[in-house]
Amino acid sequence: MPQKNKLRLGESITKDVIPAYCGYPHIPSRVTIDSMDSPIAHHNPDKHRLPWLLALPKFGIVLLMAALMALLWLLQQSEREEQRNILIKDVLWLEQNLRFHLEGNRDLLQQLAVDMAEPQERARLFRVRSTHLLKNSPEISQISWLDSENKPIIAVPSRNLSDSAANQKGPSPTEQAFEVAKKLGKPAYSQPFFNQSQQSIIELLIPIYNGAELGGMLLATYPLNDLLNSQVPWWFTEKYKVEIVDDNDTLFASKTNLEGLYADSYQIPFDPPGHGLRLKVSNYPNDQSILQRLLTLAILLLAGGVFWSLWLIRGLMQKSTRAEEALRSEHAFRAAMEDSLTVGMRARDLNGRIIYVNPAFCRMTGFSAEELVDRTPPMPYWAPEHLDDTEAMHRVVLAGQAPTEGFEITFMRKNGERFQALVYEAKLIDGNGQHTGWMASVLDITERKHAEELARQQQEQLQFTARLVTLGEMASTLAHELNQPLAAIASYNTGCLNLLASDQVNCQDLKPALEKLGAQAQRAGKIIRRVHDFVRKSEPKRAPCALGEVIDDCLGFVEPDARKRQIRIEAEIPALPLVPADRLMLEQVLLNLIRNGMDAMAESPLADRLLRITAMVENNEIRVTVADQGCGIAPEIRDKLYTAFFTTKQEGMGVGLSICRSIIEFHRGRLWTETLQNSPTGSGTAFIFTLPLESE
Ligand code: ADP
Repeated sequence: MPQKNKLRLGESITKDVIPAYCGYPHIPSRVTIDSMDSPIAHHNPDKHRLPWLLALPKFGIVLLMAALMALLWLLQQSEREEQRNILIKDVLWLEQNLRFHLEGNRDLLQQLAVDMAEPQERARLFRVRSTHLLKNSPEISQISWLDSENKPIIAVPSRNLSDSAANQKGPSPTEQAFEVAKKLGKPAYSQPFFNQSQQSIIELLIPIYNGAELGGMLLATYPLNDLLNSQVPWWFTEKYKVEIVDDNDTLFASKTNLEGLYADSYQIPFDPPGHGLRLKVSNYPNDQSILQRLLTLAILLLAGGVFWSLWLIRGLMQKSTRAEEALRSEHAFRAAMEDSLTVGMRARDLNGRIIYVNPAFCRMTGFSAEELVDRTPPMPYWAPEHLDDTEAMHRVVLAGQAPTEGFEITFMRKNGERFQALVYEAKLIDGNGQHTGWMASVLDITERKHAEELARQQQEQLQFTARLVTLGEMASTLAHELNQPLAAIASYNTGCLNLLASDQVNCQDLKPALEKLGAQAQRAGKIIRRVHDFVRKSEPKRAPCALGEVIDDCLGFVEPDARKRQIRIEAEIPALPLVPADRLMLEQVLLNLIRNGMDAMAESPLADRLLRITAMVENNEIRVTVADQGCGIAPEIRDKLYTAFFTTKQEGMGVGLSICRSIIEFHRGRLWTETLQNSPTGSGTAFIFTLPLESE
């Protein structure tokens, strides 16, 4: 719960509350933030483990890939091995098949040659048997009967015997084979050759003997392509390409149903017919290997996809780690800020329930956060004797009408001690810009209040002292002033006594003397009362007072002194409205200004010694001017006039003007100085003060 509050608070502080007291001197300037000092920042094992955690799946995927590739390779190898075995088996089978067939043909022709040894009906026998053989062996294109000189006698079929080798120099393959067969007395195959129609041909020559003598030769012509066409079954050519080549890789015949790339091939000697001929069988890549390749490709693509998504996840994780880091240091910053604040902070929701208090507020009130959070009014720190006022203020705050300049209130600490608090209330705005409650900054101003009270008392004391000083300065004049009525009283008294002693006492004669005596006594009493009034010590209190009377009183005070110094005082006081003021304080101001003016004219020629006091009403305030025609104020001291204890006089105290200003400001007025250049003497100073006519 407090954690939640802290976060909400953090958002709101940034937006609304901080500006409210940023300029306040109680916000500590020492807010040291070091996210590394934060306990949360210190113990963050995830931060170091993260690269490892991210690397592990990648490592695993690489291993898996390697294993898969190895498996595929092994599969392919064994597949290839198997294919090759099948190929070899098939080639052996084909070779055997061809051999059997050729040997079968040879045997039949040999039988015919034996049968043709008899001279009767040779020609008919040859024709019948050859035709039969050709019918059963389509690979033989022609069977010829040659005489012992290699001259053709009969050929079946009887077309033009053009199967001789093309561009042949020297003995033709047929002639060579004829010679071999003749010499060996056995069937012999010719070398392969291309005839004039570019057909590749081999021939089988079988000698015919008449007893021990060569009687002729049988010649069977095998076009090699026909041999393959008739003897290689269709299914074989679906799988393989069959070729007949020689040692020089000259292609003599081939048969296939497919074209394209060949995966593997196998060669075996083709004997008979021999002569370096070989059977070459090549196989095609089968569907399975294409499937395998596709599978490999799919695996590679999938692995790539996994890598890519891992990379994306890594990016996301790094981003969220950074965000977490930022949040952590932000949190540390907030916590440090909250702990360093000397200003108490208290957040309440819209119903006035406390949702957050900072450590400074807890220190101030003596209650712990647990004791305060979730509390509703009346709060434990509300002073019972101010309960009504505090509750009223609470309602004002919730209504959003708290004074922006803050308000003072008396709170109570847990130990019962009262303290003065200065409270600033501001709206609590959450991260979505919603007004969720009220945020208060609370300052304990008890000390400040004490200091202010002390200063006020000292100021009062100073004023009183200043009044005594003023009186002291006027003491001789006052004594002289008092002396006159006293002397008069004494002489009237003597006169009366003399009359009584003369025994001719007429009561009527005594009356005027006694009346005068009484008047003089009143005059003396008035002087003493005025002195008494002036020095009496009293609390400042404002009451409606007539400024004209105050000025008259002052003049009564200073008149004897002025007379002594030969200074004229002119007062032009029109009828003025009553002004709310402390009469004694105003008297003190006026006396001070009048006496300062008289001091300034001490050296002036007698004719110029004139002090004018004027008053007027202007802008709802009374404006009083005390103007002299004295020495004026030097520019270099103008700024120091109102500084306490600044004086240019030998026996001056230098507090007069500073007291005057604080008294006038206490009355919410202003006091300032003007230099008079337009006065008859061309010099002089006017002290002007204003007093507002309306009280606060
Ligand atoms: P004090 O009269 O004891 O010196 P004040 O505070 O009343 O103390 O006056 C301070 C100083 O201001 C005086 O010493 C004087 O130099 C100057 N001053 C005050 N009033 C006048 C004036 N009317 N003309 C010239 N100088 C003045």
